[in-house]
Amino acid sequence: MTFSELGLREEILQALTDLGFESPTPIQEEAIPQLLEGERDLVGLAQTGTGKTAAFGLPLLEKVNFDDKFVQAVVIAPTRELCVQISRDLKTFSKHIKGAQIATIYGGASIDTQAREVKRGAQVVVATPGRLIDMLKRRLVRFDDVQIVVLDEADEMLNMGFKEDIDSILDSTPDDKSVWLFSATMPKEVAKISKNYMDNPIEITVGSKNSSNENITHQYYCMSHRDRYGALKRILDINVDIYGLVFCRTRRETQEVADNLMEDGYNAQPLHGELSQGQRDKVMQNFRKKSLQVLVATDVAARGLDVDDITHVINYNLPDDIENYTHRSGRTARAGKKGVSMIFVTPKEVYKIKQIEKQIQMSFNKEEVPTGEEVCKLQLFNMVENVQKAEVQQDKIGEYLPAINELFADSTKEEVIAQFVSAEFNKTLAYYSKSNDINKRGDDRGRDRDDRGRDRDRGDRRKNRNVSDEGKQRFFMNMGLDAGLNKGAVVRLVCQYADIPSSEIGRIDLFDEFSFFDVSKENADIVLDKVQGVDFNNGSLHVEKAADRDGGGRSGGGRSRDRSGGRSGDRRYGGGDRRSGGDRRSGGGERSRRS
Ligand code: AMP
Repeated sequence: MTFSELGLREEILQALTDLGFESPTPIQEEAIPQLLEGERDLVGLAQTGTGKTAAFGLPLLEKVNFDDKFVQAVVIAPTRELCVQISRDLKTFSKHIKGAQIATIYGGASIDTQAREVKRGAQVVVATPGRLIDMLKRRLVRFDDVQIVVLDEADEMLNMGFKEDIDSILDSTPDDKSVWLFSATMPKEVAKISKNYMDNPIEITVGSKNSSNENITHQYYCMSHRDRYGALKRILDINVDIYGLVFCRTRRETQEVADNLMEDGYNAQPLHGELSQGQRDKVMQNFRKKSLQVLVATDVAARGLDVDDITHVINYNLPDDIENYTHRSGRTARAGKKGVSMIFVTPKEVYKIKQIEKQIQMSFNKEEVPTGEEVCKLQLFNMVENVQKAEVQQDKIGEYLPAINELFADSTKEEVIAQFVSAEFNKTLAYYSKSNDINKRGDDRGRDRDDRGRDRDRGDRRKNRNVSDEGKQRFFMNMGLDAGLNKGAVVRLVCQYADIPSSEIGRIDLFDEFSFFDVSKENADIVLDKVQGVDFNNGSLHVEKAADRDGGGRSGGGRSRDRSGGRSGDRRYGGGDRRSGGDRRSGGGERSRRS
């Protein structure tokens, strides 16, 4: 099957040829002809990496009349990154279509510039829900003539608390529009959108329901919590050509792991919501160019990340919501390539592997973290191989060689080799000489004192609205039902501005003029910092720790906690030896082995 057989117009075919797309992916082959045929709704169960952007983007561009200068199609996506990426793809697909204008709308950038883009006559708008609602309310965008609404990563939008926003966007478009919904998973809430807003939708499933890409090998490693970092280093050390994404649970952990890796000489950087947009863009740019080899990220920051060729996804910690595992692992094995997705678990967490296997309908291989000796052996032979492959530039070094040979005149060939290898390798040997086997068995549930566990809903909620659930920090907020807040909006506001997943939010109690909500303690300071002063409903949000209001200080001095993240405790990860493990790379700067 070719793209022209699918019935696409010449300008689009030309753009696909420019891109080097030779034939449609399965989801494109299935969706495109059906969407072109009539005005149908569609539900597509598919992950990123399957080619779904073109699956909806190409028929959408076919259906829009680019001679008209008003909005006819809207694509909604959960994050700025995904929104920008979809918009970029649509611009590329439509680059030969005369008059085609795609506007990109997302929070955190100038609303005026975005309004101008729309006003100039954009026919297609790609947006995140929050900013789009703002613009609709301020009449900066009109949806009276919208024919198509695409909801991308619908499950994640609902996880992030955008339910009301999506309803309100769908309600502000004409009744006879088509809705095309894509989701990696199909929880009840997503099925509800399909029931409420769609009429006999076309259903497309790429792979089986909730299943994962067949090209991904799933592995797990079992260790105690305190050995996670050591295991990560060993995994990086034996996969010298890794182009990897490491997922952590929180921003603090993300920063901590990335800091440690950088300090240890790895080519790694963090990506999380506490970085400025400029910093995030820079990190992503480096990762895309492959001048950055390991990206350490939170789920929210890495959502929609569209980088091909990622070889490994490492779940340093499991996501709170195991459905997110599908999203994480889907960052590798894109566009038909193969990839590895690995999980680090403690003995107590091993049972979750079964749950994930059930969800993705694939099994995991239990792997062993390599021993220090194995890492050394592999690195040694890698190094020797590189020496063998090195090109000798006679014209540059030839004149020094006689003198150098003279220095080794009394040594045998074996002695010279041993000297060179040792000069390069002694530090690594020293680092790993004290290393232990860090593998644990799944039934080895003994006393893993460092296994911090998760904030669990212990079911003994206290009645007092000012008192948080265990492990959580209660917050007071100066707006409530009268200001138009509901539980979804609270989750959305907090998650969006603090850039934390919805699972970090606990109990929410709404009152007419104010509200209370719980946040995991480790994110409390970030919420305090980032949600403070956010514009909402013509006012400004004010949040404070509820216990502080009582003067109780129950949070253990929360605010004064060092946000840069308790680095002193990290010395447990190999102490002074860490440097020696890393130094072996510093000579080569950014890993030169990558081509
Ligand atoms: P998506 O699932 O839309 O994020 O696409 C995943 C990757 O596959 C992107 O890098 C696309 O550019 C690429 N891609 C999509 N469709 C095709 C195709 N028909 N042939 C080759 N690459 C494609």
